Amino acid sequence: MTSRKVSEPDCDRGGAAWRAGGRDSRGHGIARPGIGIPALHFGECREGCAVFGIYAPGEDVARLAYFGLFALQHRGQESAGIAVADGRRVALHADMGLVQQVFDEESLSRLTGDIAVGHTRYSTTGSSQRRNAQPLIVPTDAGTVALAHNGNLVNSYRLARDLLGESTPFHATTDSSLMTRMIAAQLEQSGDIAEAIAQASQEWRGAYSVAALTEDKLLAFRDPNGIRPLCLGALDSRGYVVASETCALNVVGADFMREIEPGELVVIDKSGLRSSRIALAGRPAMCIFEFIYFARPDSYIYGSLIHEARRRMGAQLARTYPVDADIVIPVPDTGWPAAIGYAEESGIPFGQGLIKNRYIARTFIQPDQRQRELGVRLKLTAMQEVLGGRRVVVVDDSIVRGTTKRGIVSLIRRAGASEIHVRIAAPPYRYPCFYGVDTSDRRELLAARVDSVEEIRRTIGADSLGYQTMDGLIEAVGLPRELFCCACFDGHYPIEVPDEVRARKFALESQPAAEPTRAADV
Ligand code: SF4
Repeated sequence: MTSRKVSEPDCDRGGAAWRAGGRDSRGHGIARPGIGIPALHFGECREGCAVFGIYAPGEDVARLAYFGLFALQHRGQESAGIAVADGRRVALHADMGLVQQVFDEESLSRLTGDIAVGHTRYSTTGSSQRRNAQPLIVPTDAGTVALAHNGNLVNSYRLARDLLGESTPFHATTDSSLMTRMIAAQLEQSGDIAEAIAQASQEWRGAYSVAALTEDKLLAFRDPNGIRPLCLGALDSRGYVVASETCALNVVGADFMREIEPGELVVIDKSGLRSSRIALAGRPAMCIFEFIYFARPDSYIYGSLIHEARRRMGAQLARTYPVDADIVIPVPDTGWPAAIGYAEESGIPFGQGLIKNRYIARTFIQPDQRQRELGVRLKLTAMQEVLGGRRVVVVDDSIVRGTTKRGIVSLIRRAGASEIHVRIAAPPYRYPCFYGVDTSDRRELLAARVDSVEEIRRTIGADSLGYQTMDGLIEAVGLPRELFCCACFDGHYPIEVPDEVRARKFALESQPAAEPTRAADV
């Protein structure tokens, strides 16, 4: 890791350790206490991130938060951070890199307290800056707020313009920093953090699953549609945990209690746990892509084990698109459960024809566009002994940009496969996401750029291609479609997206397709 670790161990109430505005010498945003809304510049969370929070007096909360973030590493590999409160002060350590790169014994030992919130952030090229690392902290005269956010507001541009009078570029005043600043401003007025969150959230439109803390409280809240997951767990009688996924509860020894409800605010302090509504729940709209790709297979959402749902997606695919073949192989790692399901249902033997280099992370220096195929080869190896002369069904979770799929088919072909049949557990990904997943604009989505599945098949070089149907996906998930956001497949956005935001990603016909910006597909 080339960047320096940064701690803010003395972020006292009132912000004595902070100077007025701008950035400090270490590149961190600096709060400006005493004005309506303190100024901060942090990057927006562009893709799936993870949040974790713990209230457990007497426990090593920083270390438990570290383990929680470690379990959630798949949701964000660009940066990691933990803020800890001890009743009087809030301390922060955050930096670029994987959780295990950002923290060591020394940094964890400096984070002492009873409450912690943590965050990991997903990588996108161009946004790999330390200033994007969360939790974000704003000290005010009424206390300090530290916030970790998963999701994306669709109205942050308007909020910045109308509420803050800012004309800064979109990337400089972002949703997570706006949310933190708005809560801080309300906190200064009311002195009550629950009230501050309730008031500030009235202005927010979009997706937010948040873990936050003040000097003496852990808070967790979720947008009215519940687009990103957030669950609550109990640490025996020792405290509570909130996390993006249930897999992070297991790892710290917490028992799953329930999901945080859409529009619910949970406050945990020495008086116990209190729940209130900050917004009327809207139509439930959990991101169905959590079931397909984002969530870890051992997590539960809506009471369903993700691994089982993905296995059923594979079985469904086998029924919809059967083919005579010799072997079914997954694209590691997220294609595994669906490939198992396809093999079980079809009776075709399951095998491991692609080996993944486990040590390639998002922080790995990516090859440039001319070296795209090299990128796939660095990540995956096709085994000639398994694939040579065989008719291969290769199963993956989804096709977004298509770059990687073309490289994978080419790898399998060169390993000697006689036929390659690609099966995709998700329907064609045709519409951009505005709720916290950076699938870039519509020009980069392969299924939006080309006219037919046949053309996509030709583009990736497969002998046949079968996508999951929308009905097949819903049947595999095993829950009513009304519970989900499926907008990237059907274009029906559950939360209205302002025209100026939509226009940024819908310029399909007016401009040439941009080159994908990283070697790895989503
Ligand atoms: Fe999830 Fe797609 Fe909806 Fe975005 S548009 S929240 S990726 S289902």
